[in-house]
Amino acid sequence: MGSYTIAVLPGDGIGPEVTEQALRVLHAVADRWGHTFFFQQALVGAAAIEAEGEPISDATMNLCRRSDAILFGAVGGSPRREGSNATIRPEQALLRLRKEFELFANLRPVRPFQALLNTSAIKAEVLQGTDLLVVRELTGGLYFGKPSEIRETAKGYEAVDTLIYTEAEIERIMSTAFDLARGRRKLVTSVDKANVLSSSQLWRRVADQVATEYPDVTFEHLLVDACAMHLIRRPASFDVIVTENLFGDILTDEASMLAGSMGMLPSASLGARRTAHGMFGLYEPIHGSAPDIAGQQKANPVAAILSAALLLRYSLNLKKEAQAVESAVEHTINAGYRTEDVREEGKNLVGTNEMGSQIVQALLVVEA
Ligand code: NAD
Repeated sequence: MGSYTIAVLPGDGIGPEVTEQALRVLHAVADRWGHTFFFQQALVGAAAIEAEGEPISDATMNLCRRSDAILFGAVGGSPRREGSNATIRPEQALLRLRKEFELFANLRPVRPFQALLNTSAIKAEVLQGTDLLVVRELTGGLYFGKPSEIRETAKGYEAVDTLIYTEAEIERIMSTAFDLARGRRKLVTSVDKANVLSSSQLWRRVADQVATEYPDVTFEHLLVDACAMHLIRRPASFDVIVTENLFGDILTDEASMLAGSMGMLPSASLGARRTAHGMFGLYEPIHGSAPDIAGQQKANPVAAILSAALLLRYSLNLKKEAQAVESAVEHTINAGYRTEDVREEGKNLVGTNEMGSQIVQALLVVEA
């Protein structure tokens, strides 16, 4: 039994709908195991721009700072605010959170549910046994390197982006991947483009150094283009994939299709900061605010609920409870409940709230 403070930032579009279901599940966890969760809710994204004039206020940042973890929904989707020349954009909230809390490691576990293997675009026999974790570097590389600009020259316009990584940045993400592999099947695949890029050559050199500290973990390098192919051809052969920001961005969307829908995949963003219980982190589904289905009870809440499970595991150190939430989701899917995005002939099609209710009920009976 323990007391924990969780900042809840539901955001925009389907963000609040799926976060509500994740909160119901966390309330059920509190009831079953006698924990006390203090939920502190605040606005973020377009909702915060509308009410407070900025995507995330200082007050909300402070609220997050005082918490053990952040449960995040999704931001974006207000076309009125998102013209190409809008200077205040909802997504800036996420960048501020990642930057100020130095959330440099983005974890995306991909473990397609057995009962959903036939809903994926990939053949079931290829998917069979897939259980991988992508560890993406989140605060460096092309997305943050300077200069990044379009400039005018005598011969017309030119553009530049800068791919820069320091040894220390590579070392910490590599150590994170190796530490995580030790709790899994002990295989790390480092993905780069070392045949072309200098940044990848340093990446490989540091990766090799870190690997010597983990003699119990099997280690391999893979070029990013080959990795894109092997993810589809032999996904079950991977355990932990670690890669830089841009490669990770692209490979994780590709990997999400292994699980059948964006609505199924959770993520955790972790940094060096520790709390009294575990690692401080931000937990969110990998999908966005999905304005096309917002307010229609069509959103799949599973990604948000599995994100809450990651929060229990990594930030609150409540491993048994995290496992129980994951089992409750699997139990509900095995019982035939499906939201629109993974609908199947002969299965029970339900809305967002009903899917949440079924998972809450399952949580009360699954073994822990
Ligand atoms: P999206 O992830 O919101 O939606 C892509 C497609 O997947 C849509 O057809 C949507 O209906 C479907 N989908 C997404 N989540 C679903 C769920 N839980 N259940 C069922 N179907 C689901 O991506 P988008 O449409 O490219 O972007 C919409 C907005 O979200 C944009 O403003 C974008 O910038 C923002 N965005 C935010 C985040 C974030 O908050 N981390 C991530 C990606 C996109």
